[in-house]
Amino acid sequence: MSNEPLSCEGLLRQATEVIGGHSPRLDAELLLGHVTGWSRTSFRAWPERTLDAGEAQRFRALVEQRAVGHPVAHLLGEQEFWSLPLKVNPSTLIPRPDTECLVEAALSLPLPRDARVLDLGTGTGAIALALASERPDWRVSACDAISEAVELATGNAERLGLRLDVRQSNWFAGLPSGCFDLIISNPPYIADDDHHLIEGDVRFEPSSALIAGSDGLDDIRRITSEAPSWLRAGGWLILEHGYEQGAAVQQLFTEAGFASVETGQDYGRRDRFTLGRKHHAER
Ligand code: GLN
Repeated sequence: MSNEPLSCEGLLRQATEVIGGHSPRLDAELLLGHVTGWSRTSFRAWPERTLDAGEAQRFRALVEQRAVGHPVAHLLGEQEFWSLPLKVNPSTLIPRPDTECLVEAALSLPLPRDARVLDLGTGTGAIALALASERPDWRVSACDAISEAVELATGNAERLGLRLDVRQSNWFAGLPSGCFDLIISNPPYIADDDHHLIEGDVRFEPSSALIAGSDGLDDIRRITSEAPSWLRAGGWLILEHGYEQGAAVQQLFTEAGFASVETGQDYGRRDRFTLGRKHHAER
């Protein structure tokens, strides 16, 4: 990038060309907003507004990182989920809007007022914090195998003033015994040879949050088989999965003894999550 223009509009035009890809202008505006603290609408209202040389230099450095593919969320250090601003970093998955569909599904279940809820593999804490923000009486816990994710989720909860108990645990392995009303998770579910892994943001996200064996179902298999021991009778399990995994995941739920098994769709109307209910005890 040449060092010339210092007006917002000049910098944004130049950056849009350098960034390329699906949404270069939006990406450029988000990065410029991050550097200046100005809102995106102000770039339209005052296109001729100028940056000082230091700001322009910081902006250009971010634009160059974006041009080689670094996710906007990593460059901003933040991603919104369920209208909550969450800190993110490369230790875990960047929250995706489609995961909000699991939150909606959870909120529509017939759960007790003080439900005990567990978010497995919480990453930034996105699902757990969305639920805690909507249901202050729920007792929400979360775990992650990665210590940086535990720190990130804990920090996000503190910043948002939400009550969340976060522990380090590889799925259920390190948890004290539980009797949850709801277990919810966005586990890794991409097959290790999936071509999506060489495109877009996933190139900069850890494989521990994305890849699950040759069919992408290794972690979902483990969670469906172990979850019944951690749910009360009548408790629910909700898992995110790939858009072509609905039938296979339904079968895993059924094999593990879940009833009322159903698959729900994401914002693009593709299969995105499956839920099921642990059988009530025999009467
Ligand atoms: N939905 C993410 C993607 O397709 C993957 C998330 C995951 O593996 N849990 O990029």
